[in-house]
Amino acid sequence: MPNADLPSYLSRENVGPWETYLEQVERVAPHLDRALLPWIETLRRPKRSLIVDVPIKLDSGEVAHFEGYRVHHNLSRGPGKGGIRYHPDVTLSEVMALAAWMTIKNAVVQVPYGGAKGGVRVDPKKLSLAELERLTRRYTSELNIVLGPDRDIPAPDINTNEQVMAWIMDTYSINQGRTATGVVTGKPLSLGGSLGRRDATGRGVFITAREAARKLDLPIEGARVAVQGFGNVGEAAARIFADNGAHIVALQDEGGAIHSEAGIDVDAARAHREQAGSLRGFPGADAMSAEAFWRVRCDFLIPAAVENQITEANAGAIRTKVVVEGANGPTTPAADLILQSRGITVVPDVIANAGGVTVSYFEWVQDMASFFWSEVEINQRLDRIMSEAFNGIWAVSQARALPLRTAAFVVGCNRVLEARSLRGLYP
Ligand code: NAD
Repeated sequence: MPNADLPSYLSRENVGPWETYLEQVERVAPHLDRALLPWIETLRRPKRSLIVDVPIKLDSGEVAHFEGYRVHHNLSRGPGKGGIRYHPDVTLSEVMALAAWMTIKNAVVQVPYGGAKGGVRVDPKKLSLAELERLTRRYTSELNIVLGPDRDIPAPDINTNEQVMAWIMDTYSINQGRTATGVVTGKPLSLGGSLGRRDATGRGVFITAREAARKLDLPIEGARVAVQGFGNVGEAAARIFADNGAHIVALQDEGGAIHSEAGIDVDAARAHREQAGSLRGFPGADAMSAEAFWRVRCDFLIPAAVENQITEANAGAIRTKVVVEGANGPTTPAADLILQSRGITVVPDVIANAGGVTVSYFEWVQDMASFFWSEVEINQRLDRIMSEAFNGIWAVSQARALPLRTAAFVVGCNRVLEARSLRGLYP
């Protein structure tokens, strides 16, 4: 369903994430504070992009080379913050987009960071644990010139976890000659990690969905929920929705999609994935095709896997009331317009998945102070920050008749550009 309002360069499918981001900046530009517009070009350009060669010795004795990246999109509001992704499809332009979304997201939830992101072009499933450790340590060493608790603080993203964060912390600390727990977040609890971090992104997805549901007068109890991606974000979001009385009617991961009108037992699905490697073959639900997943009737649809999943090809068939973007960039600009025209509310990634960076901020604060908080305290603070941020965006969206994504970009971009203009141009 091509859309006449869309610039010609975006009317094709497979728009890259960086083009998606640039289009989002174009859509917000007319709504920004006019006094800040002279600075808008800074949003269209990453501040710095580092490409590194990551050579490692494989278990076979051979040497393999991998390409790694770290992008600082904008540091006007503070040190860089954003995850590290290990995936065979990682590219510099994808990392640029993910870093840019971190800039906006950190401003939306008002954590004192700029936007950064990193990645290595690798299929970690093809590496042994020892090879993965060598890859992580060499990549961290190559990034040594840009990392630091007050310079750039990575976190987990696709295919990276607490163990990878522990290796990053250890490698950086060895290179610095001192233990620096605050250089990375999403660490194990025993190494300065924070209670509540593991579930934080999924919990934030739930909190923003709950706030949207209040505005739209939709109940969570008994709601039908479909989740794409059953990793850190998707699994936690599905579990917390189920704990609050919703029915998880469909799940999808790289192994396949499953469906159950009666509702899927999330803990059983997780146990199956841990043992079988994916959702494929889960006995507690029916298998369905990847395309059919997008046609499942639901109240909340949660893309929590990768970019470019909701496209011109499937947006017209989606049967939901609310899309809550657990993943970064799951909806193309063309699909966004289709969902909007069909009256489907989209809670955009820059607020919906900001729970992870919010609790990462708590983790960093706790590390810097060496004083740790209870899980109840963390979840309460997370709930307050996420609810206030969502409600602020909702108010802008209502007052100016804008979609939530544009409203979130108005709030985030204005904050970034205000900081940028106050700092001024050097020299
Ligand atoms: P993860 O590696 O833990 O899980 C990814 C899940 O997506 C897996 O279940 C995988 O099988 C599935 N998947 C991957 N490609 C797929 C495809 N093409 N089709 C269907 N399923 C697919 O990763 P994660 O940390 O849960 O991250 C998921 C998304 O959330 C990413 O977009 C990430 O940038 C975003 N995000 C993560 C965090 C975090 O704290 N981990 C924070 C904010 C945003």
